[in-house]
Amino acid sequence: MKAYAAYNRDKKTRYESSSGGVFPALAEAVLKQQGVVFGVRFDGDFQAVYDCAQTMEEVRKFQGAKYVFPSTDGVYLQVKAYLEQGRYVLFTGLPCHTAGLLYYLRDTDQSTLFCVDLVCHGTPERTAWNAWLKEEEQRRGSITGIRMRDKSRGWTDYRIAVTDWSGIEHREYASDHIYMRGFVGSLYLRKPCYRCRFRGMERSSDLTLGDYWGGGRIHPDLDDDGGLSLILCHTKKGKKLLESAAEKLIYAETDPEYAVTQNKALVCSPEEPVEREAVLRALEKGDGFRRATAAWIRRNTDGKIRWRIRRMRRLYKKKIRLLKKLYVL
Ligand SMILES: Cc1cc2nc3c(=O)[nH]c(=O)nc-3n(C[C@H](O)[C@H](O)[C@H](O)COP(=O)(O)OP(=O)(O)OC[C@H]3O[C@@H](n4cnc5c(N)ncnc54)[C@H](O)[C@@H]3O)c2cc1C
Ligand code: SF4
Repeated sequence: MKAYAAYNRDKKTRYESSSGGVFPALAEAVLKQQGVVFGVRFDGDFQAVYDCAQTMEEVRKFQGAKYVFPSTDGVYLQVKAYLEQGRYVLFTGLPCHTAGLLYYLRDTDQSTLFCVDLVCHGTPERTAWNAWLKEEEQRRGSITGIRMRDKSRGWTDYRIAVTDWSGIEHREYASDHIYMRGFVGSLYLRKPCYRCRFRGMERSSDLTLGDYWGGGRIHPDLDDDGGLSLILCHTKKGKKLLESAAEKLIYAETDPEYAVTQNKALVCSPEEPVEREAVLRALEKGDGFRRATAAWIRRNTDGKIRWRIRRMRRLYKKKIRLLKKLYVL
């Protein structure tokens, strides 16, 4: 298995992606071969759904992580139908769904299939997402857009951007955002995520994509806080796909042993908080998101402090870079 640090050469594409924008580069390579691309988008009600894209315009809807459990309705059937037509298919999704697809296709010719899974912390229960969404809609009037990885203040310190009915975008740091704090603190993940069988450095997919947290320490030339991806390449097909997208990427081989020390989600499941059951029960009862999570949010300031330290470190680094530039000039 080989590992790479990478980002998309195109600034706009990289900005719109969660990490380094490797996914759209892979998608473009497959579309050029008259293939199709499967990924996850929000539908009109902000529910996450797998869908099929045949153009880059459609692929753009898949960019950006949606921290919600997506619906797979009919998607495995669609993938199978395209493979039977001999078309190239790129499937990108959660590790459990990728494994599920490969099992479903066990008797189908998979020579034109590329599977790309994600490093996955876990996905929240839909009850939590829907309760947050309901309150947010009451607060904003109605919502016309949600971006869960807004990088306008940088990749490491990302914000959640919600667009209201009048087109105004409201941005909040993930460290201050109640839904994201509960997600990162693993408060309301789906039960299987606390004992996930699909983590690990070896996978059934061709490639695995994630955020390359800490990658800047061993690849300082790739670290400008615009987003850096970690790519794990598991198969010959993965290598072929990566090579066909290489012209769109700036990348360097990296040390997988180091990468895993910086990204626990690759190999370890989070612990289930003792408050989880009670919070989910309260949400199901219709207590409302803020009310149901308030006590946990008040007690768990760890994540918030860690994020603040990260923000201060980033600002400090930025200042040092600026001073160095001035000094050289
Ligand atoms: C629920 C979730 C948890 C994650 N946890 C981690 C983590 O702990 N550590 C880490 O390093 N990386 C994690 N990631 C992956 C990371 O956020 C990026 O999605 C990944 O690095 C790809 O980035 P990109 O810039 O190449 O892709 P982008 O251009 O941003 O494209 C996003 C890709 O993710 C897919 N996607 C978006 N939302 C979902 C979803 N809900 N379910 C399935 N697929 C989806 C899209 O189809 C597309 O392929 C997580 C992603 C998700 C969706
Ligand atoms: S943590 Fe595992 S079970 Fe949970 S969504 Fe991710 S891959 Fe699926």
